[in-house]
Formats: sequence, C-alpha cells, structure tokens
Amino acid sequence: MDDWLTIFEEIGVILKGHFLLTSGLHSDTYFEKFRLFEKPKYVEMAGKCVKEHFKDMSFDWVCGPTLGGVIFAYEVARQMGINSCYAEREDNKRVLRRGYDIKKGDKILIIDDVLTTGKSLNETINVFEGTGAVIKGIAVIVDRREKQDSQRIFSLLRFPVKNYTPEHCPLCKAGIPLTKRGGSKG
Ligand SMILES: [Zn+2]
Repeated sequence: MDDWLTIFEEIGVILKGHFLLTSGLHSDTYFEKFRLFEKPKYVEMAGKCVKEHFKDMSFDWVCGPTLGGVIFAYEVARQMGINSCYAEREDNKRVLRRGYDIKKGDKILIIDDVLTTGKSLNETINVFEGTGAVIKGIAVIVDRREKQDSQRIFSLLRFPVKNYTPEHCPLCKAGIPLTKRGGSKG
C-alpha cells in the first residue's frame, strides 16, 4: 500500500492556507492535483492502485470529468487495457461528446480526482443515463468529503476537510487573505 498522504505532502499536492473552492466554499486545505498530474510516474502509481483495487472486476470504459479526470481516466484505461472517455461540461451539466461508441451493457468505471461535494462525480455518472451502460465502480484520488454517503467509492486517500460558507468562515473572520486555486473552465 502506497503512503499517499506522505507522497502528496512531499510533492506539494496538499496546500495549507485559506482557499476559495470551485463550489464557492472556503477551506484551510487545497489539493493541487496538478502537482500529481505533472508527474507521470505518480499518475502511473495511482492508476496501478485503482487497477489493483478492481482486479476481480471487468470494465469496458473508464470515464472521468474534464479536466483532471481526462488525465487520470486515460492512465487507468491504459493500464486496464480498455477504453477511456470524458464527461465534458455543457451549460449546467456534463455530456459525452466525441462520438464514443458506448453500447448497452457496457461496464463503466467512473473516476475523478478530488471528491469535494460529489457534484462533478454525479454529473459524470449521469452522462450514462439512457445509454444502457452500467456503472460498476467509482474511484477517486482524494476523498475530502467530511461525511461519506452510501455510494461505494474507492479512494487512494481519505482526507476529510472542513469547508465553510463565506459567512461562517473562521479564516475570513481572522482576516487571512483568500486564495483562489484551480477551477476548470473545461
Ligand atoms: Zn474564508
């Protein structure tokens, strides 16, 4: 078992401060996934963990949401010897574009990078509605949710972090400058 907490601290994935998240919430911790994605060696290691976890199952496609999910879905698919596809943003939802030939009964592995609210993960699951494909597994790199729900999600690192609405943020009250990171336009 790889020690992802140590790896993420060493390569600068885990940042401490006062951050504005894509969801609009504030937090004292930010996961800069691109410190991971810039190092193919570690992306390969992460993909290997996902492959190992699902070794008794078979899939036809790995699907992830843009932007980070593209990189990770590709790597997991490469190692599993299956296809990868991407859920891209369109208006207020995600869609499959690019003419993927997804058939009825195809088995899907959904992946995401950092799980905060579950919004992009659920949007990615929803793109398969009406295709007849079956979601067979879900994996994320970091699960930073405070509370887990009933969905079975495999994570490389479970690291619950408190999020605050701007009105209730103790870091705002303490006058610590707010940093905006990430935020996919894709
Ligand atoms: Zn704040």
